[in-house]
Amino acid sequence: MNTLAAAVQQTSDAPNVSFEFFPPSSDKMEAKLWESVARLSPMAPNFVSVTYGAGGSTRDRTQRTVAKIAQDTPLNPAAHLTCVSATKDEVLGVAKDFWSAGVRHLVVLRGDPTEGMGATFQQHPGGFRDSVDLIAGIREFDIAPGARFEMSVACYPERHPDSRGWDEDIAFLKAKQDAGADRAITQFFFEPDTYLEFLERARAGGVTMPIVPGIMLQPNFKGLKRIAGLCQAHLPQWLHDLYEGTEDDPQTRELITANVAAELCHKLSEQGVSDFHFYTLNRASLALSTCRLLGLKPKAQTA
Ligand code: FAD
Repeated sequence: MNTLAAAVQQTSDAPNVSFEFFPPSSDKMEAKLWESVARLSPMAPNFVSVTYGAGGSTRDRTQRTVAKIAQDTPLNPAAHLTCVSATKDEVLGVAKDFWSAGVRHLVVLRGDPTEGMGATFQQHPGGFRDSVDLIAGIREFDIAPGARFEMSVACYPERHPDSRGWDEDIAFLKAKQDAGADRAITQFFFEPDTYLEFLERARAGGVTMPIVPGIMLQPNFKGLKRIAGLCQAHLPQWLHDLYEGTEDDPQTRELITANVAAELCHKLSEQGVSDFHFYTLNRASLALSTCRLLGLKPKAQTA
C-alpha cells in the first residue's frame, strides 16, 4: 500500500495538528484570516497560534486576534510573546492582558529585532535578556490567583544563526524546559533526518518535553528562499528542482507545497511523530489539503 492510501485508510490514527496564523494588517487580510480560521476549525487543532511581529510591531493586532479566537471560537489560542523593545513590566502587562482575554497558552520567544530577521538582537535596558529569562519571568509573575500559562518555545533543528555550537544550543533548550516551558516547536526544515537527528541530540541532552515539528506551507518559493536565507534553514536541491520553472504558475506551486509537506509528515509519522505544527501563512486551502493528505478529516465527518 502506498503512503497516500495508508493515510486515507488510517483516519483513526491521523495526527494531531496545530496551526500558526499572523495578525492581519488590512481589512482584506482580516477577512482572509477569519475565513481560514473557520475553514480549519473542523480539523480540531490542538491549538492555533498567532505571531507577534518583529520588535513587537503587531502587539495590538496580536492581542485583538487571539482575544477574538478565545471569545468567538471553540479553538484554543496561543499568543506569541517576545522580549523585544519593551521593558519587563510592559511584556508582563501584555501577558496579563492575554490572560484576562481568556488566553491560556503562550509561545514565548526572545524575538527578532524591529529591523527584522537577521538583525542583531539588543536587550532592552529594562527588558528580558532572552527566552529563558522571559519564561522564568512569566512563571514568577502573579498574573491571577492560580494562573498557569501553558508555554511553548522555539527550537532550531539546524541551529539558530546566533548559536555557538550544538552542546550550548541543546543546553539552552534544556534551560527553557527547566524555566517552565511545556513544549518546543521547531523552525521549519525539509529533510526528516534533520528533525530526527535534532530530536536525538535533544533527548540525549535531557530535553524531555514534546518537540513538535514546524511544517512550512509557503508556496512562494522566492519568498521561502529569502526567509530560509535569513534564518539559515537549508533548502535541499530537490526542492529547488521541484519549484524550478513554476514562477508564473501559482496553482502548481500550491500543489507542490501541499505534497512536499504531506510527504515530510508521512515520513516523520513512520518514525512515530504524531503532532505537527503548520505555518499556514493564513492560507486555509494549503493547510486543509495537507491535513487531508495525512488522513485527517473534519471532526463532524470522522464519527
Ligand atoms: P532564544 O531561544 O532566546 O535565543 C536564540 C538562540 O540564540 C538560541 O537558540 C541559542 O542558539 C542562542 N542563544 C541565545 N542566548 C543564549 C545563551 N544564553 N546561551 C546559549 N545560546 C544562546 N519571531 C517573532 O518576532 N515573532 C514571532 O511570533 C515568532 N514566532 C516564532 C515561532 C517559532 C515556532 C519559531 C521557531 C520562531 C519564531 N520567531 C518569531 C522567530 C524568533 O523570534 C527568532 O528565531 C529569534 O531570533 C530567536 O527567538 P528565540 O525565542 O528562539 O530566542
